Parts: sequence; structure tokens; C-alpha cells
Amino acid sequence: MYFKLLWGTGFENIKCNIFNLLNIILIISKNIHIFSKYYVQRFIRISTIPYYKLLIFRETLLHMNRRQLIKHSALAVGAFAAARESFAREIFPLYKEPIFRDNAAGPIKLSANENPHGPSPLAKKAMYDAIDASNRYQWDINVTLREQIGKLTGHTKDQIILGAGSSELLGLVTLLASQKKGSAVAAEPTFKLWMPATRKMGLPIQLVPTTTAKENDLPAMLAAIKPETRLVYLCNPNNPTGTVSPAAELENFIKKVPADCIILLDEAYTDYYNSPSMAHLVNDFPNLVIAKTFSKVYGMAGARLGYVIAQPNMVQQLMQLQAWANAGPSYVSMQGGLAVMQDAQFIALCKSENIKAKEVFYKGLQQLGIPYIKSYTSFVYFDAAAYKKDFAATLQSANIIGARSFEEKSTWLRLSIGTVAEMEKVVLALNS
Ligand code: PLP
Repeated sequence: MYFKLLWGTGFENIKCNIFNLLNIILIISKNIHIFSKYYVQRFIRISTIPYYKLLIFRETLLHMNRRQLIKHSALAVGAFAAARESFAREIFPLYKEPIFRDNAAGPIKLSANENPHGPSPLAKKAMYDAIDASNRYQWDINVTLREQIGKLTGHTKDQIILGAGSSELLGLVTLLASQKKGSAVAAEPTFKLWMPATRKMGLPIQLVPTTTAKENDLPAMLAAIKPETRLVYLCNPNNPTGTVSPAAELENFIKKVPADCIILLDEAYTDYYNSPSMAHLVNDFPNLVIAKTFSKVYGMAGARLGYVIAQPNMVQQLMQLQAWANAGPSYVSMQGGLAVMQDAQFIALCKSENIKAKEVFYKGLQQLGIPYIKSYTSFVYFDAAAYKKDFAATLQSANIIGARSFEEKSTWLRLSIGTVAEMEKVVLALNS
């Protein structure tokens, strides 16, 4: 229709319109700001119509007759389509189609709450590039990374310590807490990775059951804190239940914990749903330590990068327990971490895909009459008692692994959320 209108307006007008269009394309491809210089150069190199050819085409257009114009336009349209495809594949492999790059023949892994979409395209490029410089100790990058994290969270670099994943730092905090004899308090069920080391270091852990709604029972946890309690661990949103405590209740909890008891608040999953973070309270509470990770919505579990936020004095004490402070994560991971923090498009995509995939699973559970808890994370906790067959075994026979039990003698299971396609396979398998 548009072409017909154009044609009707006369050949010279068409030439003029195409000429203008080409000018716009040239200006965009030269000056476009949303892509880095790298991507523009890359675009020009991988394009089937390099920049200089566009220039030539624009100039020859002025001297073409009608037949030549039709021939060249058809060629250009075809070449542009190919260029656009390869450009999109190169830069946005992720955004074109939901990606699942794990071994297609291997099992669908839904056991460890990893991000099925990561790493982000920007983090991948940064990590590839960083390999070249990884023969050297990179003294400065941890300072840059702590500064950048600080910009994100509203803290100074002196309030941030880095680790090879937040697990390393959970261990470090419990090591610090165990320097004085005493005990620890945590919910049941909750994230337990740090517990064996804590017990080994001499702190027995009092476990406080979650409520019937599987929420952290903050009043009961407060009540469990005794004068000799050195550490209270709180995971919010909680793993494996996926529940979140409201900000006001968390603030009240933090205020009431005695000053000589470290509050280790694990915020590994806050980013998925913008759940309340208590990082802003760090300045007011010297005993508050917030643990964060790049393993979840940032999609870098295998790269191993995490951090804690605390007052400088607490950070100093933690650093003294690291033989080489902040040197846990590799240069490659830290470059990836710097890059993914800039990749807002990737983070937004991971969040929205997680919601979509979770809806698929929720619907499947509803159809099977399986009760579940609304999750503020990248996993779902549900009671498999109503399922007629063995839930985990059924999935396993469909090459899907990860339905895990976290409570003794309980029928509740946790399953990580994969891609939409993976969760559709889960539902299909459960109905088979
Ligand atoms: N904290 C919680 C609540 C987690 O669920 C996990 C991983 O599953 C971690 C910490 C560990 O994360 P990282 O990979 O940063 O060690």
C-alpha cells in the first residue's frame, strides 16, 4: 500500500524518499548510542551490507533509472534482512528466543535455583575479554566492583566485601560469630549450606519452625535469641519456602536483636520481585550483615561472585579472616559482574520469563490439586502429598531432575523454575 502510494507520486519522489531513508540508516549505524562502539563496528563487519556499500548505494541512487532502482532495491531488502538476522543473533541471542544452552540431551536441571537464561550477553562478552588479562593479578578490579556495587545499593566500597559466591561469605560471617562461645538461631526450613561449618566451629544452631503458612516466624526467632546467641540467620525471601516478610516486620526484627548478636540477612532472591531489602539499615545497625549474590537473577552461579554489605568495622573484621581480602572471585567473574549490572534488559527479561514460567507451573499444580506457596523467588515450594505417583521419580523418568525435600518426614518439595518450555515439559510429565 505504502509502495503503491510512493509509486504514484513519481519516480524522482521515490528516489528522494529512498535517499532520505538511506541517510537515516547511515546516520543511525554510525551514531547509534545505545550500542557500544564495539557493537557498531561488529555490526558493520558482520553486515552483508557494510557501511561503505551503503554509502556507494546512496550515491549511485542519484544516477539510477527506474529498472536499476527496482533491481537494487530488491537486492538491498534481501541483504538487509540477512544483516538484521545475523546482527540480532550476534548481539541479542537471548532476546530472540528463550535460551536454554545446556546440553539438550542432558537432563532439565531444576535443583539449584540457577537462572536458566544466564549469563547475560554483556557479562559473557566481558568475561571472554577478561580472559586475556587473567594471567596477571588484577589488584584494582575489586575496588572498581565494590564501588559499582555501592552505587547500586547506596553504600561506600568500605561497606562491601567480595566473595566467590555469597556462600563463602556466609561461612566467613559464621566464623567471625564463632570467635566467642555461644549459639546461633535460624528458621526451619531455611537455606542450610552454612550450618555444618557453623556447628563445627562450635556454635550449636537452634532451629525455629516457620509458621503454618511456611513464613519465617520472626517473633519466635526473636524469642529464641538468648544472651549467648552470637548469630541469627534470616533468609528473606526464604529458601526453600519462597515466602517473604514485610519490610516493617523485618525492620522491627532488626531493631530488637541484641547488639552483640550478628544478624546475617541473606537476600539472595530479593531482586526477582523487588522484595524489601534491609541494606539501607546497615548504617544504623553495626551488627547487621546483608548477603547478596550474582548467582540468581544475575545468572552467574558458576562464575562464583557474591558480596556482603555491613558497616566498615564489620567489613574490616571479615576481611581479616580472608588471607587475601576480596580475592575470592576471579578477575573474569568480576568483569562479568561489572557488565551484568549494566544489563538492565537482561535482568528485566529474566524476571519476566521467571514469572511466565512460574505461572505455567502454578497452573499445572492447580490442575493436579497440589497446594503450593506463592513464591517471591525462582523456585516453588509445594505439598506433593496429593500427587498420586512419586513426584520426583515421575519427573526423573522424563529426564527432569530437582524436586527436593527440605523437611524431615514431610511431603513438601521444592522445584526450581526453569524456562517456560521446561516448565511446560514438567507439567506434561506430571500429567503423563
Ligand atoms: N543464599 C541462598 C538463600 C541461596 O539459595 C544460595 C544458593 O542457592 C546462596 C546463598 C548461595 O549463593 P552463591 O552461589 O552466591 O554462593
